[in-house]
Amino acid sequence: MSITQRLLVPAGLKVLITGGAAGIGASIAAGFLEAGARVYVCDIDAQALEDFRRRHPGARGTVADVGREDAAAHAVEDAAQALDGLDVLVNNAGIAGPTGGIDTLSAPDWERTIGTNLNSQFYFLRHAVPHLKRSAHNPHIVAMSSVAGRLGYPFRTPYAATKWAIVGLMKSLAAELGPEGVRVNAILPGVVAGPRMDRVIAARAQALGLDDEAMRAQYLGKISLRRMVSAEDIAAMALFLSTPAASNISGQAISVDGNVEYL
Ligand code: NAD
Repeated sequence: MSITQRLLVPAGLKVLITGGAAGIGASIAAGFLEAGARVYVCDIDAQALEDFRRRHPGARGTVADVGREDAAAHAVEDAAQALDGLDVLVNNAGIAGPTGGIDTLSAPDWERTIGTNLNSQFYFLRHAVPHLKRSAHNPHIVAMSSVAGRLGYPFRTPYAATKWAIVGLMKSLAAELGPEGVRVNAILPGVVAGPRMDRVIAARAQALGLDDEAMRAQYLGKISLRRMVSAEDIAAMALFLSTPAASNISGQAISVDGNVEYL
């Protein structure tokens, strides 16, 4: 196989993406579909899922709250049946969680963030790994972390705690599953342009008593390239990690962030 052929996503790859109806997950799903993969998305937002499937009639999917193990188990089994197996799991779903000083955060907000961002990854891994072990197509797991999984993030402690934990989970699992041929990597997106980041900036501006534009300028000042990244930049990395060119990449926390220097 030539080097350029190794850069292609194998046609018919079977991909399950959590939180795949909007944002980064939808870009990843659209990218895999464009590459000829078979895609199954799950999302808590029924309307977003319906809109996604209208735009991408080839995609399969279900409504599921990833923070619930029964929903995760059902989504994995339904995906494996619909796609006739699984080659790639993209554990993408996540929420920003609360913004504020540690003594202002509520326990339910903390628990909801851990449940959606971290417990969800365990639930999907627990049920999807047996299918991935049976794959003969360079099986791979993407764990969606964040730049907040390599830097401290004041006033977003629940979020940062989950994103660092995801890196530890990925590193451990890469060693555990490597002998069985399953690769595991984390992608650490930086500041991704879009409605979610607009909400994050607005919440942080409010918490710090700044206006939104001043807050946005502060964010760009922390990035060496002085620009945000796009959801498509993250999707491109997820696709690359699923190509034969990446068949010896495992156990890595890969930043796609223009080099965020601090948070
Ligand atoms: P988003 O809010 O735009 O989209 C997330 C999707 O996940 C939505 O469709 C939402 O309905 C779904 N979702 C939320 N909670 C769910 C649940 N309990 N069960 C099932 N689906 C659920 O977010 P995004 O920006 O696309 O973020 C995707 C991932 O990337 C997250 O893990 C996030 O932490 C990470 N990330 C995002 C950024 C960024 O700047 N946007 C930066 C770093 C990391």
